[in-house]
Amino acid sequence: MSTYTSQFLRVNLTTGAIRAESIPEQVKRDFVGGRGLGIKYLYDELAPDIEPLGPENKLLLLTGPLGGTAAQGFSKWVAVTKSPLTGCVARALGGGDFGAYLKFAGFDFVIIEGQAERPVYIYLEGDRAEVLDARDLWGLDTRETQQKLQEKHGPRTQVACIGLAGEKLVRYATITHGRRTASRCGVGTVMGSKNLKAVATNARRSPELAQVGKLVPHDPDGFQSLAQEQIESLKTHKRRLNLTNLGTTFMVATANAAGMFPTHNFQAGSLEGFEEIAAEEFSKVKIGNFGCYSCMTRCGQVHEMSEGPYSGAFSEGPEYETIWALGGQVGNTDPGFLVAADARCDLLGLDTISTGNCIGFACELFERGIITTEDTGGLELTWGNHAAFLTLIEKIGRREGFGELLGEGVVRAARRIGKGAEAYAMHAKGLELPGYAPRAVKGYGLSYATSNIGGSHMYGRPRDELYGRLDPFAEEGKGDSIALVQKEQALDDSVVVCNFGTSGLTRQFLGSLLVAATGINEFGDMAYLDRVGERIVCLERAFNVREGFDRKDDTLPARMLTEPLQNAGPATGQVIHSLDTLLDEYYDALGYTRQGVPSQEKLQELGLTEVIEDVAISGRMH
Ligand code: SF4
Repeated sequence: MSTYTSQFLRVNLTTGAIRAESIPEQVKRDFVGGRGLGIKYLYDELAPDIEPLGPENKLLLLTGPLGGTAAQGFSKWVAVTKSPLTGCVARALGGGDFGAYLKFAGFDFVIIEGQAERPVYIYLEGDRAEVLDARDLWGLDTRETQQKLQEKHGPRTQVACIGLAGEKLVRYATITHGRRTASRCGVGTVMGSKNLKAVATNARRSPELAQVGKLVPHDPDGFQSLAQEQIESLKTHKRRLNLTNLGTTFMVATANAAGMFPTHNFQAGSLEGFEEIAAEEFSKVKIGNFGCYSCMTRCGQVHEMSEGPYSGAFSEGPEYETIWALGGQVGNTDPGFLVAADARCDLLGLDTISTGNCIGFACELFERGIITTEDTGGLELTWGNHAAFLTLIEKIGRREGFGELLGEGVVRAARRIGKGAEAYAMHAKGLELPGYAPRAVKGYGLSYATSNIGGSHMYGRPRDELYGRLDPFAEEGKGDSIALVQKEQALDDSVVVCNFGTSGLTRQFLGSLLVAATGINEFGDMAYLDRVGERIVCLERAFNVREGFDRKDDTLPARMLTEPLQNAGPATGQVIHSLDTLLDEYYDALGYTRQGVPSQEKLQELGLTEVIEDVAISGRMH
């Protein structure tokens, strides 16, 4: 017995072929689940240099070994593919009930390949898996799509779908389920390129499933007792209570005080009037909580504006990152706009981080006269002009007018605009940067630069700097720390454990849960788990090396390396002078060459011998 279903579903949208395949035992042991299995199958099955929006790309939706169980905060899901923004591996995490229900349908993950001729959706129910006509869903927003499929297949149906942005191939489209989105790297764009509107699962955890041994822990009593222990601990855990009360909105004041709240397209580190969009203001308009399957933290905050120009606006958010992206990044302090814009992005299926980053980029170009109202279709893109921003969001989602250009992301948009616009594109490897200023916490800079998915705050948080154990402004002595948090995050994304839903969880406790659930004793060994995380980061890097990436791509916008950070309290004046020193330390910590490529010895040590030849062919191994 195990909480792995030990099989996955392969759906080819070109041929219509659908088949279940089993997951080899050793692959589970080496890669655990979620992101780990995602990169394993993506690496093995994708040829290098394929077009991310072509039929050769594959999209994987994956769960973890504890998904659908009583353990708290383990039922999210992960999308893995080749990113149309970066050309690197893509990883985005989604929440809600979809992951649990995918497992109840009998699958640890789904691989979607090919390209349908017309709009379709995938429907799973018990032993049934079908590709069905979605022409009547095409053009609907994410809420309407979910409602329509629930009307058709029943109210328990769990739907992961794209909105208009995914259909129109905005390069940073999301996959939305319920009130949660798998947001980053354009995973929804890949789904749209396949003419796939949705994946719906209506399976339930049935006695039949239990009888065939699926989702029954290896040690049912031991697992139950650990799950109960976790629940008891979470009941009074301070961080859990804070997240339930405020979600991530409390981070606005903290980031602003530290000067790491990027403002005006990353020129400054704090925002005048930030109090208007801090936790206290959102508390006043909070009307409820929501959460993911088997998670008592329920960190989601539902807000509704009762007055002002956005009276009546309603959203299951915004989270910290959205408050930053459509707040500090664009010079806005109107909370009503944030609620309205968050809702609109969710319905269109737009990543709010990339959307806000693109708008801030456009505002700076507008201020500098590089673009004018002739380019923007009449929109006055001045800082904080939220009425114009709301119109622009709509245009991006529909790829109309100036929104067509911004829908390409900052790198491609800057290239098309020319006139030096590249200097104002804030990204790493083509992924728009998130809401922590890298000059104020330089470990963020190193983590963004080296992240294999591009500029993401969720690839490895610089914990030692955030908790005062390392000087945030120092430019040496951080390679080990960032390598460690990236490995740990890789493991977490493979177990598919939510960083917010598991307050107080130790690595040892996590190992005990995994052993009781799966019967794989190695998962109780911390050194083994550390090696799993390292293997996943290393294979992701090998994927990128095969695509032509190396040290030259592990970098940051010139602004971070040459311009002193403005108006950032304690971080005012900071610049990252020595990214090269930090990179050398990081590569040394992971056993990579100074070109940022895994060494032959490291690949052998991690059991990735089949990758050695590919990396050697790249010519960058030495
Ligand atoms: S903490 Fe929040 S995001 Fe994480 S699993 Fe729970 S409800 Fe979902």
